[in-house]
Amino acid sequence: MNFELEERLVQRKAQQLYRHRVILDSPQKPEAIVDGHPCLMFCSNDYLGLADHPDIRAAFQKASDVYGVGSGASALINGHSRAHRQLEEELAEYTGRPRVLLFSTGYMANLGTISALLNPGDALFQDRLNHASLLDAGRLSGARFQRYQHLDMENLEQRLKKNKARRTLVATDGVFSMDGDKAPLKELITLTRQYQAGLMVDDAHAFGCVGKGGRGSLNENGLSVDEVPILMATLGKAFGTAGAFVAGSEALIENLIQFARSYIYTTAMPPAIAEASRASLKIVEREDWRRDKLTANIRYFRRNCESLGIPLTASESAIQPIHVGSIEKVLRVSKQLLDLGVLVTPIRPPTVPAGSSRLRVTLSTAHTREHIDRLIDALQSIVWPKPEQAA
Ligand code: PMP
Repeated sequence: MNFELEERLVQRKAQQLYRHRVILDSPQKPEAIVDGHPCLMFCSNDYLGLADHPDIRAAFQKASDVYGVGSGASALINGHSRAHRQLEEELAEYTGRPRVLLFSTGYMANLGTISALLNPGDALFQDRLNHASLLDAGRLSGARFQRYQHLDMENLEQRLKKNKARRTLVATDGVFSMDGDKAPLKELITLTRQYQAGLMVDDAHAFGCVGKGGRGSLNENGLSVDEVPILMATLGKAFGTAGAFVAGSEALIENLIQFARSYIYTTAMPPAIAEASRASLKIVEREDWRRDKLTANIRYFRRNCESLGIPLTASESAIQPIHVGSIEKVLRVSKQLLDLGVLVTPIRPPTVPAGSSRLRVTLSTAHTREHIDRLIDALQSIVWPKPEQAA
């Protein structure tokens, strides 16, 4: 049997697409230890600085005394603890939806939901830049699956017009994971209503960060629960823990319990993670200052980059991509940043389209202005020299 394992790796290296992992020796926080060295981190999704919060850590530790560590089995066997149930109920109340179902990861939530809802003969439309888990879910479902141009509602409408499927779903990221820009939710609602399609929003990167009490993109846009019947969000980003959930109607959640294979056939998330997430939910809802500081950090970063000629995109979220050019260049700049003690992982194809390699800078409540200044200084010393240096 020849899988051409060596050849594939050689090819991957030749294309400069070979991926490496740094080793983290500390919690997620701006001043981290990476590969044994102090390093300033600007690529974590810990947007509110909660991954190392003492109350959340304490909830996790206490729950491990009550429940132990492993959940032991899938939720449908005996892995569904009181902690899971309470978190589901609290998230349902928080999102204002009848019911919530926890998944072990966001990837599995998307895979399970779309493949449970759609079958061959149905139709699925997705933004071209949706997260890989939504795109993979589309393929797995067997539905007729099309990707419309990024944020392009005319392009989506043309496709919906021609669609004859009995059941149709449109799925979108709320905030796009590699670009940080936002889906046109109001237009998506209008179109899905007009063409009698369902709408699913993956709010992984906005949940906790925007909206009243951190309720995410739908709340930020003043949208009602009925307008977006399927909401998915993750707990491993702004919530600082792990896992994900889908929120919706009684019937939707009951269908997922019956038919979502990535829910049924996998070990439930550890109960201590559910308890930690309950503690996190309280903080997310209560501590508006975390969102205010995140917003202030985003503005500070953008203002300073703009005044120094560091090219940014239109993103207003915590995800601030910097397009530096070719794959070679993004690799070089990222390595030079690391040599200066700043970690910003380079993002290359196939994660992003060919020709759009970038530094995906992410900002957090936990960053100080001094941290941000250090990142900008480092970027300047490598790629965008200060005017006096350039002269
Ligand atoms: N959806 C989006 C938009 C994401 O960015 C991610 C993670 N990067 C996921 C889903 C998957 O979530 P998880 O990491 O919990 O599997």
